Amino acid sequence: PSNPVSKNSTTSNAIIESWDEDIEPISRLQIVDEDQKFTENLPEYMGKWGLAEAGFNYNVVAVFGSQSTGKSTLLNKLFGTGFDVMDETQRSQTTKGIWISRGRGMHVVVMDVEGTDGRERGEDQDFERKSALFSMATSEVIILNLWEHQVGLYHGANMGLLKTVFEVNLQLFQNQKGKEKTLILIVIRDHVGATPLENLSKTLQADLEKIWAGVSKPEGLEDCKIHDYFDFMYTGLPHKVLLPEKFDEEVAKLRTRFNDPKDPNYVFRPQYHKRIPADGYHIYASGIWDTILTNKDLDLPTQQELLAQYRCDEISNAAYEVFLQQIAPFRSPIVEKGQTIPELGEQLLSIRSEALQTFDKNASRYHQGVYQKKRADMLTKLNTQLNVLYVGQLKNLHKKAITMFEERLKTELKKPSYNFAEVVEAGLKESNEYFLKGAKEIILPDTDWSYSHEHSLLEEEFGEVSSRARSEEFRKMSKALSKQVETELSEPVSLALNNPKPGMWQNIIDAYKKTVDSGEKVLTQKAKSFNSSKEELDDSRANLKQQAWVVLRKKVDEELADSMILLKLRNSFEEKFRYDEHGLPRVWKPSDDIDLHFKRARDAALDLIPLFAKIELEDGSTFKLESTEDFDYQQSLIVLSEAKQIDISNRFKRESDPFYLEAKRSVVATTAK
Ligand code: GDP
Ligand code: MG
Repeated sequence: PSNPVSKNSTTSNAIIESWDEDIEPISRLQIVDEDQKFTENLPEYMGKWGLAEAGFNYNVVAVFGSQSTGKSTLLNKLFGTGFDVMDETQRSQTTKGIWISRGRGMHVVVMDVEGTDGRERGEDQDFERKSALFSMATSEVIILNLWEHQVGLYHGANMGLLKTVFEVNLQLFQNQKGKEKTLILIVIRDHVGATPLENLSKTLQADLEKIWAGVSKPEGLEDCKIHDYFDFMYTGLPHKVLLPEKFDEEVAKLRTRFNDPKDPNYVFRPQYHKRIPADGYHIYASGIWDTILTNKDLDLPTQQELLAQYRCDEISNAAYEVFLQQIAPFRSPIVEKGQTIPELGEQLLSIRSEALQTFDKNASRYHQGVYQKKRADMLTKLNTQLNVLYVGQLKNLHKKAITMFEERLKTELKKPSYNFAEVVEAGLKESNEYFLKGAKEIILPDTDWSYSHEHSLLEEEFGEVSSRARSEEFRKMSKALSKQVETELSEPVSLALNNPKPGMWQNIIDAYKKTVDSGEKVLTQKAKSFNSSKEELDDSRANLKQQAWVVLRKKVDEELADSMILLKLRNSFEEKFRYDEHGLPRVWKPSDDIDLHFKRARDAALDLIPLFAKIELEDGSTFKLESTEDFDYQQSLIVLSEAKQIDISNRFKRESDPFYLEAKRSVVATTAK
């Protein structure tokens, strides 16, 4: 919100020539304080300065030089910053430490190093070395500030400082010789002009080479040249106090080197960029400072990798949190409620892509090797979470496919006519397609997910469901067939047995055969529907024959139960004894031979017993059924055992006696009249 750049300057990217010095300077921050402690406020300031989201689109410049050479004054003039300047009237020291600010109207981080020059104050050079390491590691351009009269003083304080800068640089970049260069912009202050800049720079360049030669080089880098690591630029500035206007003019010219890429002397060439994304700058800078403090070996490639690891983790975790929130609503319906969510794959893919894109957007600027590895790790992490939903949805699809199949069988098999095999095939096709469509939809790219195991489980279960349905339908069919057999058989059996005569069994067997024939027709027709094999059909046929026989035998037993058989005998007896040949009731006359009539009628009735007793065809014919383990055909032919026959015969005799007496009495009664 408070972007000092747009507020205080005309246009943020315009080339600034000068500004009103009364306007409030841009805020500054002491990133390293007098106690060598690193600030915690850098992220906040990067945000305030509008640089946090700048990516690579920002530059860093630091200044070096002896104490009180007008460094801070120059920076404030050049960049509109508000670094402390030594009070001329009091000549008191400014606060030691490293300060940073932002260039007005420029995407530039400006670093002011105070108290670098310990020599002049007889202090140890510890802080000098540390701050040199720090600025070299974090800046693209170093402004080296020196008085004109210091030039040529080879043993002067500046030269000691330069030696330090060179050594430090060799340490930092030893692993990437020639890859990254730093620009050193040498600003000669109070340049009177008597000696042309060209001459001064020649002298300085010669000194620099000398210093370079004296710097001890790490192993393997003994022959390296100063230009492998540094580019140099020279410029002079007039005396600020004596020629203030001229000074301002020259500073304004110098400024274009910092904010006009078209300037032939533009300093922020891409090759100097340290490639630290702005959002990681605070981590990088504080990491560098920590390493410096702990006196660990500091080399930039390692630092950049450490930074990349740290930042990629941070970026990944932030994206992961959002991702978790986005997938959370799917969990309960899928995992707990067993629902299938339409277009789940598409939705999850878009959530995953969003997470990866968020990651890529910021993380891809970091060390490529680290970034790629962290990206792969993140993908694995995302996929692990998504896998729970994938597996859940797959299970639910499986369940739903089974229910769908069962429901379809249920409705189709309720219909008056159906072909079982066709119903099953159509149902399987529908449910299987439903499953496969859903399963394919949720296989996300870049995963090792597969639904083949679940699919084979499903197919197994389909098999179980259809074979259950088949047995159920089979059972229903057999039941219907038994019923049909029973209805078809019961009347002819009962008719035949109630009109007992020779040939009676033949009629019954004929009815049996007819029933079995029509049953077989039903079976053959159903065999098509059930897609039965020949063996199965043969089994069913044999079963039908046996079943029908059992039904027949049951009916025979019912019709020939004791009371029923006695009734049949009595009917036969009464018909002959109590009715004459015209079917009229007999009135006994004394001339009638009651004894003979009685005997004939009773014998005729008793003769029925052996007829009933055994199922026998008159011609001793060939009808025969296969016996099985629990069905003995021969045994089933016997209806009444010998003992039973005797018992029935005795009981019938006893039952018929009263008729004889009654007949006798009726004659006596008529005669007595
Ligand atoms: P720093 O310690 O290098 O940051 O120096 P300062 O910017 O604090 O300035 C130190 C003193 O030098 C101040 O009194 C400034 O007014 C003065 N000063 C700044 N620039 C110049 C300059 O170009 N020439 C001269 N002679 N004095 C300057
Ligand atoms: Mg200063």
